[in-house]
Amino acid sequence: MISPQSTPRYTPADDRYDRMEYRYCGRSGLKLPRISLGLWHNFGGDTPHSLKRELCRTSFDNGITHFDLANNYGPPPGSAEEAFGEILKTDFAGYRDELIISTKAGYGMWPGPYGEWGSRKYLIASCDQSLKRMGLEYVDIFYSHRLDPNTPLEETMGALDQIVRSGKALYVGVSSYNSERTRQAVEILNDMGTPCIIHQPSYNIINRWVERDGLLETLDDLGVGSIVFTPLAQGMLTGKYLNGIPAESRAAQGKSLDKDWLTEDVIRRLNGLNDIAKERRQTLAQMAIAWVLRGNVTTALIGASKASQIEECLLAIENTTFTDEELSKIDALADSSDEINIWSQSSEG
Ligand code: NAP
Repeated sequence: MISPQSTPRYTPADDRYDRMEYRYCGRSGLKLPRISLGLWHNFGGDTPHSLKRELCRTSFDNGITHFDLANNYGPPPGSAEEAFGEILKTDFAGYRDELIISTKAGYGMWPGPYGEWGSRKYLIASCDQSLKRMGLEYVDIFYSHRLDPNTPLEETMGALDQIVRSGKALYVGVSSYNSERTRQAVEILNDMGTPCIIHQPSYNIINRWVERDGLLETLDDLGVGSIVFTPLAQGMLTGKYLNGIPAESRAAQGKSLDKDWLTEDVIRRLNGLNDIAKERRQTLAQMAIAWVLRGNVTTALIGASKASQIEECLLAIENTTFTDEELSKIDALADSSDEINIWSQSSEG
């Protein structure tokens, strides 16, 4: 581990804002970069701190101003926020006002009946804990991480409203809510005077629940922005698995990507997608990100285990236009029967 003292002081690239495009998030005044960095993997206690710093620096140097966290990111839960808190004190000291930092609560965080889901008790306590771990007075965006079918939506949204009113977050959002529940949540928040500015759903070429649900149209209608997570299907939609499963990969490490999903048929389809990407003069990762950004999605929320992956992904924004022919070829290879969405449960109910 590199201690903050042992590395030279970091100065972000002067031209960082020329390297990125920014879009308004729904009908809010907040602009987000077209690509954002998520700290779900590679920011826990199992990753050297020097790598975490490098991932954050490379992102910021390239105009990625938005860093997405959650209470439970690690392992152990909470350690990603602690690591990011360190980075805020070292590399990003003096840049707080150039950053959009989000966190969430919804999944299991501490034992007992108040450590998960959507009660006011849990959300308020979790937000306080996240702020402490990151050493922040406020986060820019606070999310309800998943719908709680057993807590009145009024209570969950009331907690988000309270978090904003008490100055602990500037904006609020929801994650993995379906269209129907999103409409209800937005209406409740509007009535309270705290608009929902952002929705965080999973979406990629091989996980299209948002299309079947009509979520993106719902969000347009409501004026809510979108940040889509796992645009690379956790790495499946990159060059990484085209010839099998490399040792240094999320699938090989048995983390959240199950290597059983990478069947011969899936690998054949990934190679087909890679051929389309090559014709577009993109890598598969770049095409997969461009594909989610082709419409009204505000930003693609990627993860990375190496700084070079971020650099490759960034080039996606240079071409986010697709011909009808390319789109139908992609659709033909991404047959929905193979769809992988481990978050589907929380989008229903
Ligand atoms: P992803 O972008 O689909 O996958 C990232 C992984 O793909 C990397 O860790 C890396 O895997 C691989 N990769 C990335 N760029 C690559 C490249 N250029 N070449 C080869 N491989 C590349 O997204 P994710 O990490 O699964 O999720 C992104 C973020 O979404 C999370 O950090 C979190 O902020 C958010 N998220 C939110 C929820 C929610 O419920 N709201 C759920 C999940 C995620 P290797 O490690 O194998 O190198």
